[in-house]
Amino acid sequence: MKPQPTSRVRRIVQVAFLVLVLAIGAQFSVWAFAHLEGRSSEAARPPGVEGFLPISALMSLRLWLAGGGIHPVHPAGLAILLGALLASLLVPRSFCSHVCPVGGVSELLGDLGRRLLGRTWLLPRWLDVPLRGIKYLLLGFFVWATWIAMGLPSLRGFLDSPYNRVADVKMLLFFAEPSRLTVGVVAALVIASVLVRDAWCRYLCPYGALLGLLGRLSPLKVERDVTTCIDCQACTRACPARIAVHAATRVRNVECSGCQDCVAACPVAGCLAVRPPARPRLRLRPAAVVGIVAIGFLVVLGAFRLAGHWHSEVSEAEYARRLGEIRSPAYGHPGASPPPAQATGVRGPGSVPPHNQHSDPAR
Ligand code: SF4
Ligand code: SF4
Repeated sequence: MKPQPTSRVRRIVQVAFLVLVLAIGAQFSVWAFAHLEGRSSEAARPPGVEGFLPISALMSLRLWLAGGGIHPVHPAGLAILLGALLASLLVPRSFCSHVCPVGGVSELLGDLGRRLLGRTWLLPRWLDVPLRGIKYLLLGFFVWATWIAMGLPSLRGFLDSPYNRVADVKMLLFFAEPSRLTVGVVAALVIASVLVRDAWCRYLCPYGALLGLLGRLSPLKVERDVTTCIDCQACTRACPARIAVHAATRVRNVECSGCQDCVAACPVAGCLAVRPPARPRLRLRPAAVVGIVAIGFLVVLGAFRLAGHWHSEVSEAEYARRLGEIRSPAYGHPGASPPPAQATGVRGPGSVPPHNQHSDPAR
C-alpha cells in the first residue's frame, strides 16, 4: 500500500526524539533497578525522564507562575513542559507531531495498521465529535485539581511529598509490574491506535488538548493559496486530524498538529505551506518549520540547564534510601487515604496543613 505522504524531515526528527526517549528509559531503568535491588549503579539518573511526570510539571508551573520559584525536585519536568508549550505556540500543537514519544509510537502503530490491514478506520462524526471532547474533560479535571482545588500550601506539600520525590520510579514500577487493568488498558490503546490513527492523541490526551488550545495563538499556520489550488483534495485526504484543508484558507482548527502531511501531499508547488499571518508571499519550507519546532523546544531545555535547573535536588544517597522503602505506605499517593500509622505529614491535595508542608521526617 502507498505510504501516507509525510514530511520526511519531520519523521526523522520524530524518530530521533523517540530513540532518545528509549535511551533515557533504558538508562533510567538500569539506574532505578540497581537502587531497588540495593546495588549502586554505574548509570546516572537521566533528568529527561521527568518528561513523563506531566501532572507534577503542571503543579510546578503553577508554583513558578505564582512566584514560588522553580521547584527543585523535578525541574527538568517543568523545562520539558515549557518547551512543549513554546514549540506548540510557535507551530500549532507541534510538540505532538515532532517530539512526543507517545505521538510517535501512535503514528507508527497507525502505519502498521495500514500495512497489515490496508487501511485505518475513521469513526463516524456522531461518535468522533463527542469522543474528542474526552481529552478536554480530562484537561479540565487536571487543571481544576491542580490549579483551582489546591491552594499553594497544598501544592507545595504535594511537590515536597515522599511520593513526588520518587514519582519517576513509581511510574516505572507502574509499567514494569503492571496490574491486569494496566495491561488491559495499554493493550486496548495499542489495538485502537492500529485501527484508528492517533486514537490516543485525538480522543484522550489532555496534554494534546492543552497544546491544541495554545496553538490557536500560534503565528505560524498552514495556509492555502486559493489562486493556485486545483481543488484535488489530496491535502484533506492526507490530514490525520480529518481537517478539510482544501476548504480552508488558513487552518485554525485546534486539532491541527502542524505535521505538514497536507503540505507533503499537495501536488502544486507552493500552494500549501506554513506561513506567518498576512504574508502570503512568505512560505516556510517544511524543514524550516521542523527546525523552528525543534529549536523552540530545545532552547527552553538549554536555558534551564544553563540556569542550573535541570538536575533534581534529590541526591543519589536520598534516592538509594527511599527506593529501598518505596513499597511502604509512606510512599502512597498523597491523594489516597494513608493508614493512621503513616506519619509523612502529607495527606493529600487540599488537606495538607501549612505547618506540615516540609514535614517529611525522612528527608
Ligand atoms: S492540517 Fe495539515 S498540518 Fe494540520 S494536522 Fe492536518 S495535515 Fe497536519
Ligand atoms: S492538495 Fe493542494 S492543490 Fe489539492 S486541494 Fe489541497 S491545497 Fe489545493
